[in-house]
Amino acid sequence: MKIHEYQAKALLRYYGVPAPRGEAAATPEEARRIAGELSGQVVVKAQIHAGGRGKGGGVKPAATPEEAEEAARSILGMRLVTHQTGPEGKRVHRVLVEEASTIRKELYLSLVVDRSRGKECVVLMASEAGGMEIEQVAATAPERIVRCAVHPAAGFSPFQARKLSVALGLAAVQAKQFAEIVRNLYRLFLEKDCSLIEINPLAITEKGQLLALDTKITFDDDGLYRHPEIRELRDPEEEDPLEVAAKNAAVNYIKLDGNVGCMVNGAGLAMTTMDLIKMAGGEPANFLDVGGGASSEQIEKAFRILSADPKVKCILINIFGGILRCDRVSSGLIQAAGKMEMKLPMVVRLQGTNVEEGRRMLQESNLRFTVADGLYEAAQKAVSLIG
Ligand code: GDP
Ligand code: MN
Repeated sequence: MKIHEYQAKALLRYYGVPAPRGEAAATPEEARRIAGELSGQVVVKAQIHAGGRGKGGGVKPAATPEEAEEAARSILGMRLVTHQTGPEGKRVHRVLVEEASTIRKELYLSLVVDRSRGKECVVLMASEAGGMEIEQVAATAPERIVRCAVHPAAGFSPFQARKLSVALGLAAVQAKQFAEIVRNLYRLFLEKDCSLIEINPLAITEKGQLLALDTKITFDDDGLYRHPEIRELRDPEEEDPLEVAAKNAAVNYIKLDGNVGCMVNGAGLAMTTMDLIKMAGGEPANFLDVGGGASSEQIEKAFRILSADPKVKCILINIFGGILRCDRVSSGLIQAAGKMEMKLPMVVRLQGTNVEEGRRMLQESNLRFTVADGLYEAAQKAVSLIG
């Protein structure tokens, strides 16, 4: 789960990481009031769950409260397009109005979970070349980004902070602040079950202070049950509406870009099904695990989610009937597809208990079911039905 910059900065402050003073506003008038309460120059920043806002026109400086109101008026309601939003952009519902800082240098700092080392651990990444070009730096001069893995048992050690400080070329005063910031971020990362904390830029101000000017925090969804205060920060407007509907229906669904909709029971079978669609020359439209039960209500909910995606041209249903008998699955499919007058062609591959009965029911249903025997055959049939 992602949160907004203004929410992330509140968390940083709570953990003792310095961030500019500021507040979120939903109207231009509110932005003006906040700017009036802060001193001097402010920055007005679009709050969306995506980076690259600076380049997209979503970050504007303002010298007076009037200018802040104007800046907020132009940003609020806009569809902000950045390299992270996709071409359709994201609607801005809120801005952050905060005290502007004079920047001497922009650093980059992030903490992520690295799963590539065989054992999961938190990795710190830092660069003296922070700011809006960090992706460019990563692509063309990766040696300018330094990494340091934190051993889960030993924890973060001051020695590691010193090593990073040297690599960043920090003076002694900043090195001390930096060590403190990293220590606090690591604590935040663990305590709140984060999967990413990114500060870019971590600015060195003209007064020589380190300050988190921008931050992104992502939480591990599987840890959210432990953090009701974090769950409250969720902004459904930022999430894919189909994924929100799926969450409410207790269906595991992730939207992808292809046109073959998938309905499968079991995550492993769902992954295999997606691979086979690819092998057959198609593109899966989603990952969808209906779970073990696959009742007709659950199937109907899944059908509704799949057919609400305009890209989906065909649905591939791959169900293994173990405890759940195939005839029960077929009856659920027939009931759901009949009730919602399903227009899309559906390829069904069933295996397991009472499979003959299940297939016969589908074939005799007069609905748009095509029955397949094997997994690969099912994928091929689905891809051929896209046309
Ligand atoms: P992003 O483009 O979505 O990553 O948004 P950022 O919050 O990182 O803002 C983009 C850029 O605006 C930063 O890299 C800074 O160079 C600049 N910026 C943001 N806040 C301030 C500020 O208070 N003072 C100055 N001078 N520049 C700022
Ligand atoms: Mn940034």
